[in-house]
Amino acid sequence: MALVYSPEYLEHNTPNHPESPDRLTKIMEGLDEADLTDNIPIFNPYMAKEEDLVRVHTADHVEKIRKFCERGGGCLDFDTYASPQSYEIAKLAAGGGIKASELVLGRFNTAYALIRPPGHHATRERAMGFCLFNNLAVALEHARKVRKVKRFAIFDFDVHYGNGTAHIFYNDPDVLYISIHQDPHTIFPSEGFLEDMGGGEGKGSNLNIPLSPGSGTSDYIYILERILRPVFKDFNADFYFFDVGFDSHQDDPLSSMRLDDDFFEWMDIEILNQSRPRVLTLEGGYDLDALKRCNLKMINVLKEETIEHSQISLEMSEVREETKYILQRIEDNFSPFYRF
Ligand SMILES: [Zn+2]
Repeated sequence: MALVYSPEYLEHNTPNHPESPDRLTKIMEGLDEADLTDNIPIFNPYMAKEEDLVRVHTADHVEKIRKFCERGGGCLDFDTYASPQSYEIAKLAAGGGIKASELVLGRFNTAYALIRPPGHHATRERAMGFCLFNNLAVALEHARKVRKVKRFAIFDFDVHYGNGTAHIFYNDPDVLYISIHQDPHTIFPSEGFLEDMGGGEGKGSNLNIPLSPGSGTSDYIYILERILRPVFKDFNADFYFFDVGFDSHQDDPLSSMRLDDDFFEWMDIEILNQSRPRVLTLEGGYDLDALKRCNLKMINVLKEETIEHSQISLEMSEVREETKYILQRIEDNFSPFYRF
């Protein structure tokens, strides 16, 4: 596996904001303490060019962010911040996704882009939810247009629905987007319902798993075990992307989910066993200690070539009835597309 990181990511300066430079500092501190920074190759990101950004975003949006930062930055909306350096650093975040993609099209099976600002809420024409450019979408379009990769699967396990990514690929039959998130009735961005299944030729390629607040590790494992494997298998992608979010952890201040550290280990064993090649891009996660611990667990799994589930045994008694009902609804809705 390879990592993509640059200390320049700390220059996206967001005073008194949960999406702070401390997040990456803490993650790198965890890797250092475990001697991983000497053992896993770390690559510098590319700087995304305007031509990379406009494969996904409108030229107006790119220009708006550039000018806004040039004039000193500030609040783009109630929770999305840009500092004077943020235009450059956001291009470096999108370029981190591109670099990770290039690495897995070369000699690596796995590349994890430790980047910020995050990307999955940024739509074609708008910054929102702490995100300026959609890093994963820019990387995907690079792999498609420049490297001629045909079919992509994205799995987003940030606690928030990646509305930007979902909208960008909503009608695209060659890009599967699966997201597990907190019920959008109860959390930003109030989108990502069971009924949103993709449009036009892309019908069936947008699969949402909205779980109620308070859902825990057993709920997540129960439903993901029954959905991810069959859908990935039937969709048959050539390339996999993962939006990595740690904000569904029980210690996270921005959500109401109850995941423990073990979930992130389980999740990464699934990633390792079900996808190749694979690029992971960092999205959310705002409790610094949980972020550090769970990220380390994740990288410890990903640096292995093969690993099986061992310690975690699922307590079926802890799976909520609502979770079983949501699984049933998904299986019914998507039975024309996938064999569960
Ligand atoms: Zn999030």
